[in-house]
Amino acid sequence: MNKLSNKNTIKEILNKHGFNFSKSLGQNFLVNPSICPKMALDCVRDGINNVLEIGPGIGILTYELAKVSKKVVSIEIDNRLLPILSETLSEFNNICIINNDVLKLDLDYLIKEKFKGEEVSVCANLPYYITSPVIMKLLESKLPIHSITVMVQKEAADRICALPGTRESGAISIAVRYYCVPEILFKVSKGSFMPPPKVDSAVIRLNVLKNPTVDVEDENLFFKVIKSAFMQRRKMILNSISSIFKIDKCVVSGILVNLNISVLARPEQLDLKDFANIANEIYNYKRKQ
Ligand code: SAM
Repeated sequence: MNKLSNKNTIKEILNKHGFNFSKSLGQNFLVNPSICPKMALDCVRDGINNVLEIGPGIGILTYELAKVSKKVVSIEIDNRLLPILSETLSEFNNICIINNDVLKLDLDYLIKEKFKGEEVSVCANLPYYITSPVIMKLLESKLPIHSITVMVQKEAADRICALPGTRESGAISIAVRYYCVPEILFKVSKGSFMPPPKVDSAVIRLNVLKNPTVDVEDENLFFKVIKSAFMQRRKMILNSISSIFKIDKCVVSGILVNLNISVLARPEQLDLKDFANIANEIYNYKRKQ
């Protein structure tokens, strides 16, 4: 049985190992017993049961993932958690803990080495301070990832899953829709964590597509357009593009008019196709220079 589904047992284990939570590593551990079994089943629901976990903490989610999957490879930055994990996960022989920073690891190599390059499902209760960088690293690296089931702060979940062209959308919503079909699975109250964070969370699932949703000539340029537009989200797209790409405003407004996009448009009014079209026009313009 997962001993970690009992709050008092968790406290005992942490006290025994003299463990103090690190705020800077986003250590808010789940203590609500109903969340992890649900998350684990959502993670492997399509039958891809090679699981890559980020940040196991004391292993509450890892335990449930190990029960429903073939193999779990779990990356934890904090080496103080290693002796705790050996204790809490001792009954499994399908878990491999890697003590490293997920943002520094070569994940392509790791997946080849640990999963023979087969497709993996990613699962994590992500530390809030690296939510976007981790999601972008997983998507941009073109790894064999089938889906990403992650718990994030509720506001981040809304932003990540927002439809392009709506007020909630941001650079991350556009980037995510380029690679995936996102869905919000369920909300998780702040009382489900130890120590409780200031805000509620939600579990989302990013279903990674075999091919991106729109055609772009140059992905780096496409992402540069999105990032520069949302960096100054109150500014008209005409001005941000002109200043970032050093293209005369008359040329940029010509591009927008040809694409049927208002020259007064702000980034949150554009959809994925608009961004792809703008990026492709800039690509063609720059090539002719
Ligand atoms: N999965 C556990 C749970 O649900 O209770 C712990 C989740 S806690 C929010 C985030 C975990 O990620 C912590 O164990 C923390 O040490 C780890 N972590 C933080 N930054 C990391 C990084 N850059 N790479 C790998 N793990 C990291």
